[in-house]
Amino acid sequence: MPEIVPIIITKRDGGELTAAQIDWVVGAYTAGQVSEPQMAALLMAIVLRGMTRVETARWTGAMIDSGTRMNLRGLSRVGPAGDGVALPTVDKHSTGGVGDKITLPLAPLVAACGAAVPQLSGRGLGHTGGTLDKLEAIPGWRADVTVPAMLRQLSEVGAVVCAAGLDLAPADRKMYALRDVTGTVESIPLIASSIMSKKIAEGAGALVLDVKVGSGAFMKTLADARTLAQAMVDLGGDAGLPTVALLTGMDTPLGLKIGNALEVEESVEVLAGGGPADVVGLTLTLAREMLDAAGLPDVDPAERLADGSAMDRWRRMISAQGGDPDAPLPRARHTETLRARADGVVERVDAMAVGLAAWSLGAGRSAPGQAVQAGAGIELHVRPAERVRAGEVIATLHSDTPERFPTALAGLEGGLVISEASAGAAAEGSADAGSAGGVLTGVLDRISG
Ligand code: URA
Repeated sequence: MPEIVPIIITKRDGGELTAAQIDWVVGAYTAGQVSEPQMAALLMAIVLRGMTRVETARWTGAMIDSGTRMNLRGLSRVGPAGDGVALPTVDKHSTGGVGDKITLPLAPLVAACGAAVPQLSGRGLGHTGGTLDKLEAIPGWRADVTVPAMLRQLSEVGAVVCAAGLDLAPADRKMYALRDVTGTVESIPLIASSIMSKKIAEGAGALVLDVKVGSGAFMKTLADARTLAQAMVDLGGDAGLPTVALLTGMDTPLGLKIGNALEVEESVEVLAGGGPADVVGLTLTLAREMLDAAGLPDVDPAERLADGSAMDRWRRMISAQGGDPDAPLPRARHTETLRARADGVVERVDAMAVGLAAWSLGAGRSAPGQAVQAGAGIELHVRPAERVRAGEVIATLHSDTPERFPTALAGLEGGLVISEASAGAAAEGSADAGSAGGVLTGVLDRISG
């Protein structure tokens, strides 16, 4: 039987782990036969020394084998219109960004176009919110769904967003908790294998990744985001899961509303045919990628958004998990405003500053298991390149705990940069892709296998 200390030393000294060593260490750690300090040492060695493509693929496979692997490829549609018709499945994963509520309009939209979307999600930790926290703001909505209920909902409604069961890559669950407290999250092979082990184990037919890049994202540079995206696309391909990655800008928050109930509200605006241009644009772009991957390239998601069928799926998706799509969303008990100090042009709305401010208002948690405030968050009233007047309200802060306002206001003010440039300096709208003025926005690149 392999031993842990020689494995740590091999990696510490820059060596390559064998398949047998990887299988053993991942399995033994999950079973409690490798101690937390020993695993932490190995993870730190991986952060510093990296893993080859072969090692990363084996590490991913070992994490998948630590639990059960679902298979969603044999699903068929049920209901009056489609009994027995094969239903392609396609999933989407975002590496996480501020105001990233795209899953909420996207899953019902793609379902309305004819593919089934299984989204096994997590709760948020830190400055980016978790999809489950957002949906839990809806009165009655439950994240916990049994596997048979999930399969039934996929066949009948076409979309399910729920908590990943304890059986899905349990090695990753345990390892991620350790990485979180040992400074070992920031490693491309570890992030790629963590995300892809869960996605491959979930068993969808195809996967579209939204790899965020910029101040509010894990990956701060395009080069790092490309490396992560390529690693995940390779892992998907090697495991028989066709995977495409879009790299999208996260220097500025997505949309104008950040916080759990606020993001549900903005998602419903999108489903109702309105909403901010950047949220609508990214939802449609990702929907097209998912439909292509599902073998439905001729269905136009813009039509299904406009004709109300995506909204209809949303309502069914929420009701199927106990939620009331008509219930008023929770509001925070207190609000505060941030006003422009002088006339000028909005130069920057920094995603990290806005994310941290929303988190400090109670929208996010700082330790696993903590409760979040459903109504807490930030409404932005300006976008980059817009002109503002002295005294104009540029953001509204929401919280149940008003003693949090001063810290959040200070952080937010630092991230909302207004230059006293002349009116003519206002640039084009920020929904466009690119890096004008060094700010990463929109779709920046696409990586496929
Ligand atoms: N998300 C994950 O699921 N795993 C990581 O390692 C980082 C982000």
